[in-house]
Amino acid sequence: MKQRIEKLKEKLKNAAVCCGRDPKDIKLVAVSKTMSAEKVETAINSGATILGENYIQESREKIKTLSRYDVQWHFIGHLQSNKAKYAVPLFDLIHSVDSLKLAKEINKQAKKIDKIQDILIQINISRELSKSGIDAKGVTDLVRDISLLENVSIKGLMGMPPYYNEPEKVKPYFAEMRKIRDEIKKKNFSGVSMDELSMGMTGDFEAAIEEGSTFVRIGTAIFGARN
Ligand SMILES: *Cc1c(COP(=O)(O)O)cnc(C)c1O
Repeated sequence: MKQRIEKLKEKLKNAAVCCGRDPKDIKLVAVSKTMSAEKVETAINSGATILGENYIQESREKIKTLSRYDVQWHFIGHLQSNKAKYAVPLFDLIHSVDSLKLAKEINKQAKKIDKIQDILIQINISRELSKSGIDAKGVTDLVRDISLLENVSIKGLMGMPPYYNEPEKVKPYFAEMRKIRDEIKKKNFSGVSMDELSMGMTGDFEAAIEEGSTFVRIGTAIFGARN
């Protein structure tokens, strides 16, 4: 695993340098869904500093087991409003906020524990009905509405292109994410920073980095194939 992570970090660095970006601006989220706490521990000892989880139940146990490690936990899966109460105390960043209802619930739970919860807004960039995320058309309004909530802080956007095995085909989707980000940034909503773009996975992170990704979410290249 150590070798895989080191090789991957090298690839991330090269991808950044290739398009004239500072490698420090690209952060690796090691996606550990379905992986045991032991495997995640190995990943941490091999240099993973941000872990990405998709399921509340599963991650609660892992985070507890690994609480002695100074790492960040990010929630990247679909979050139901009624699970916000579990997510807020556990996660440093929630990538997948796509409705005002969910944001309000996160705000309420964050207020209870005196936390400002950092979030990203998930866009349904592929326009596939099966995917979560808000339509590109509605993003600006959603950001404005959420910006009024006191215990939630928007840091940027997250999105997933349709699945293609060709980087050239996914690039326009990443480019659109960046464009939406830049447009929202211009609005200067108070308390909103649009610095982060969570995009790129094992199969397409190079294209994502070229288009401005700051968080790549990578599972398979680190942990191997999931069952
Ligand atoms: C599983 C998952 C990933 C990681 O995918 P890989 O192809 O294994 O790198 C990234 N983002 C989200 C939202 C995921 O659910």
